[in-house]
Amino acid sequence: MHELSICQSLLKEVARAIANQSEVQSKAVVTAVDIALGPLSGVDPGQLLRAFELARWGTLAETAVLRIEPVPVTVWCAECETESTVPPNALVCSMCGTWRVSLRSGADLSLRSVTLSDPDGPAPKEGTCPEEKADVY
Ligand SMILES: [Zn+2]
Repeated sequence: MHELSICQSLLKEVARAIANQSEVQSKAVVTAVDIALGPLSGVDPGQLLRAFELARWGTLAETAVLRIEPVPVTVWCAECETESTVPPNALVCSMCGTWRVSLRSGADLSLRSVTLSDPDGPAPKEGTCPEEKADVY
């Protein structure tokens, strides 16, 4: 499964990113992982989300959500010196129509940010206040 191996390397990247913040590392929990995903990356966002749910188990991102930010496809035309945003199936310059363009973005899958829970803040758990819960009835 292609997407699963992508998620596993993504989670390794997440672990490396957290390892740099040594003081929060021990207690912090990853709550969200933001990635940028271009339509030409060959990765299906839906399958990636499903694969992430499997891949996150046993990692620091076990309860994290994966947020996918779509990246537009842009090409650069050296003739017009113009960058155009184009559909993924039509990589041509929007000014002159040439196909002799270079891809600027749209094929990438990259880690944008990792959101950590605040280890000193209130625990994001439910049912920590049993009295209040009883009042519902
Ligand atoms: Zn052009």
